[in-house]
Amino acid sequence: MVFRILLQACLFWLLSGSPAMAVQGGIPVRVGVADNPPIVTATPGVPPQGIAIDVIRAVANREGWRITYVPDSWDNLLARLDKGEIDLLVGIAYSDERAKRFQFSQQSLIGNWGMVFRHAQSHIESLPDLKGKRVALMRGSTHSQALIDLSKQFDAGFTPVYVDTYADVLRAIIERRADAGAVNRVFAALHVHPNDMVATGIVFNPIFVHYAAPKHADPALLHALDRDLAALKADPGSAYYESLRRWLEAAPETRYPSWLSWAVAAVAGLFVLALAIVGLLRYQVKRQTGELQRRADLLQTEIQQREAAQQHLNQLAYFDGLTQLPNREGFRTALERMLSALQGSEARLALLFIDLDRLKNINDGLGHGAGDLLLQQVAQRLQSVLRAHDHLSRFGGDEFVAIVSDIDVQADAELVATRLLNSLAMPIDIGATQIYSSASIGIALYPDDASSVETLLKHADTAMYQAKEQGGNRFLFYHAQQTARVVERLTLDTRLRQALERDEFLLHYQPIVELESGRIVGLEALLRWNDPDQGLVLPGAFISAAEDTGLIVQLGEWVLEAGCAQLHAWQKQGRAAELTLAVNVSTRQFEGGRLVKSVAQALARTGLAAECLELEITENVMLIMNDEVRSSLDKLRSMGVRLSLDDFGTGYSSLSYLKQLPFHALKIDQSFVRRIPDQAGDTQIVTTILALAKGLGLEAIAEGIETSQQYDFLRENGCEFGQGYLMSRPQAADQLVALLERQRASGSV
Ligand code: C2E
Ligand code: MG
Ligand code: MG
Repeated sequence: MVFRILLQACLFWLLSGSPAMAVQGGIPVRVGVADNPPIVTATPGVPPQGIAIDVIRAVANREGWRITYVPDSWDNLLARLDKGEIDLLVGIAYSDERAKRFQFSQQSLIGNWGMVFRHAQSHIESLPDLKGKRVALMRGSTHSQALIDLSKQFDAGFTPVYVDTYADVLRAIIERRADAGAVNRVFAALHVHPNDMVATGIVFNPIFVHYAAPKHADPALLHALDRDLAALKADPGSAYYESLRRWLEAAPETRYPSWLSWAVAAVAGLFVLALAIVGLLRYQVKRQTGELQRRADLLQTEIQQREAAQQHLNQLAYFDGLTQLPNREGFRTALERMLSALQGSEARLALLFIDLDRLKNINDGLGHGAGDLLLQQVAQRLQSVLRAHDHLSRFGGDEFVAIVSDIDVQADAELVATRLLNSLAMPIDIGATQIYSSASIGIALYPDDASSVETLLKHADTAMYQAKEQGGNRFLFYHAQQTARVVERLTLDTRLRQALERDEFLLHYQPIVELESGRIVGLEALLRWNDPDQGLVLPGAFISAAEDTGLIVQLGEWVLEAGCAQLHAWQKQGRAAELTLAVNVSTRQFEGGRLVKSVAQALARTGLAAECLELEITENVMLIMNDEVRSSLDKLRSMGVRLSLDDFGTGYSSLSYLKQLPFHALKIDQSFVRRIPDQAGDTQIVTTILALAKGLGLEAIAEGIETSQQYDFLRENGCEFGQGYLMSRPQAADQLVALLERQRASGSV
């Protein structure tokens, strides 16, 4: 054993030259070192060691440098290098970002990459699994930042637990302060014990470890280092390969303290036995040539693994995992390439921003698995109608972008957009369910609308937004005025919130009439906004914005309470003894079971009996039907509240739900009522809905009755109730009181 130590010390001493030589005289070089074994081991009070140190020492001997080591934390060292307080930093990973700050050696010391390890009990296998987890990271390491960036790109944001060294990263995992942690693979090879933790499939950020000098320093230092490191790498017997062998092979506990090697080296240096030992060493080196060959093969395998990892990262970076289409980055690269190919030519290009309508409903109602299957099939359909040289990418969520080249006139883009919409017209089978999907498409043209990637995309997005606002399942070209409308919509949210605070909302009431007798049996509360600038604003102008932002939940609660309070007040005055109040609720109010609570609260606060309240829910509630919504409906019913399905016939309904759910009434949408009895198709729909309601034991209420022909037709065909301008427009509370009084006096409307 002692002989082996002696032998290794002498080998080290002979191959790297006399350490004494390096300390006396020579060019002073301040070298920054931070603990990052086995590249650098910087323990306080002990001279630094490691692969990078062995190499710098060998170089110092060749060049006659006098090295002073400056140990510090990694962050501080980077700052010191910036200020020129150190001449060289060892073991620094190359990145483009850092290359702007520092000069890097041409020669690299070793290839490396980041790996994520996890505790045996946590379930993290791939990048998306990191979402919401605690991940230990070494402060200032390029791998740490790379992992954060990567996770953001893939919506896998985690909580970083910062520590100072890689050893602390492992400790944090073992002590369960973190669910996983990132270290470099060289460190991992030596220090990760398979009993303690498990390697996940996450490898990332392949890098090369270099030496760096301050940005404006004399490049001579790095040139000398490059020259010497290249020479060391060319010689299989050099200190470089010896160091790799020594550090990459030795398990940490078999390493002897550095002071011992120095001491023995010094002692050995005094011995005249040197020559004899050199002989022995020669033998030793020869024997190790075979070993070095094995090492070289190993390095080769590592390089191949690195290339595979790089390819995997490329796939992750430029493609969408679900549809295998290029992602946002892939799109950008393709568009930049296509635009530069068009430079100077007359050719045009169209950018089509495609956004699926109602994907959220499908995700909420049928689960994310169904949403994913739908997206995959949509991707295939869209792709199938594009030509080979067009480009389709997925931006995430329900957004796709197509780049269509070779456009001569606007009509060409129109044709493609029509084909894309048609491709979605047939229902899509998801397991046993058939889903109808549609999309909103915004089109921007190059060079007509814009010439940069960013602006083209922004304009196509704006046009898409307008297409969606106009009801979806359509395409629109970009016009400059659209930008103004988007800005307007963005400010609408703020204005609505202020309106709620400033009490600018009010309710109008429209009578619901029993058609046979003409008697008012109920009132529908309809929301109005008294905007100081625009006057009375109808719900069509703001409800969908309030739904998008979620403000509808508070707004809906306000409506419930104000409506219930008003009806209760009228009841107390003896004006509305037998009337019910219908209040419209948005499907968003069901989220978190909140609707039941708000209804109970409104009834309790105002004193209105539950039987007097009717909630109007649009058909779209079928799309979000899950256990929570179903149990809310059941609870409302058991409280005594009545439920009706609003705008029936315009959206998606399911017969089986209709039978099961506790509804009292169907409201026939005004779009069907408008053209009866002249238009045969609509007349047929209305009679069918009336038969359906009867079959299911539900009341029917016709909306939008404007003519006496419509009134008569509906009454004759068994529709019991109706509302519309013919009987009364929606009116403010005080006007409605007058109407109720007149009814009382005359016995009808
Ligand atoms: P809705 O629930 O179907 O309400 C009926 C709409 O038809 C009302 O429009 C009403 O003014 C209008 N209407 C009634 N009779 C006639 C008629 O004879 N001819 C025509 N052309 N229209 C008639 P309004 O007040 O503009 O409300 C539009 C929609 O906004 C409502 O449709 C409802 O879906 C929504 N809404 C209104 N108030 C609220 C609310 O408090 N909460 C929620 N979530 N939505 C509301
Ligand atoms: Mg309604
Ligand atoms: Mg309606």
